Amino acid sequence: MSDNGIFIHQFELGDWQNFIYFIGDPETRECAVIDPAWNYEIILEEAARLDITLSHILCTHSHFDHVNEVEFLLKHVDVPVHMLGMEADFGNFKCENLVRSSPGDIVKVGTHCEITMVHTPGHTPGSTCYHVGDQLVTGDTMFVNGCGRCDLVGGDPEIMYQSLWGLLDKLPGNTVMFPGHNYGDAPTAQLDEQLNSNPWLQHPTLQDFVTHRMEGRTPNTEIIAPAWPPEDGRPTK
Ligand SMILES: [Zn+2]
Repeated sequence: MSDNGIFIHQFELGDWQNFIYFIGDPETRECAVIDPAWNYEIILEEAARLDITLSHILCTHSHFDHVNEVEFLLKHVDVPVHMLGMEADFGNFKCENLVRSSPGDIVKVGTHCEITMVHTPGHTPGSTCYHVGDQLVTGDTMFVNGCGRCDLVGGDPEIMYQSLWGLLDKLPGNTVMFPGHNYGDAPTAQLDEQLNSNPWLQHPTLQDFVTHRMEGRTPNTEIIAPAWPPEDGRPTK
């Protein structure tokens, strides 16, 4: 639990070091699960172990490694699934209970946990960070000492640069970032620490950032991943 009365729990699943999050109200014990992927049984077991009730599913973006257990989880919990409408269109993402959200929408979890959807395009057109109190779940927009790829279909390094600096300009330095993958030397970091240590924040100009972000990469290459949605049953683990 964080100091401002918000419950947040991070755990890692799958072959790609994805982080799954529970975030919510410690009094009512209702939580949203952010980016449920790879193994819905473990996600449900973890919720039971912590004695919390899942009340929402929140998606940072439509890439399969962040959403590939949404459908399976929905067979066990009948809850709304939030994703920006533009991201659902981009990724052709469909599921029961889909709420096509808009930038700035607030998702209320329990009685006093209000989570804001912050639109941060660059990795995909409708990538979203989830902000509550001094916490920011960043998906594949920012990692500890990293940032998301911009060469995949829908990616754009210029827009990524604006999104990163938009977050850093707007949010207090003591905001704690909770990334979508465990790629750094620590599972979380404060934004002001990242200003010094994140190599992607050291580029003096937009052009310099774009050149380095796209170095050795061909723009708009496909992500190497199993087909989504899966045609027959569960995606390959
Ligand atoms: Zn992604």
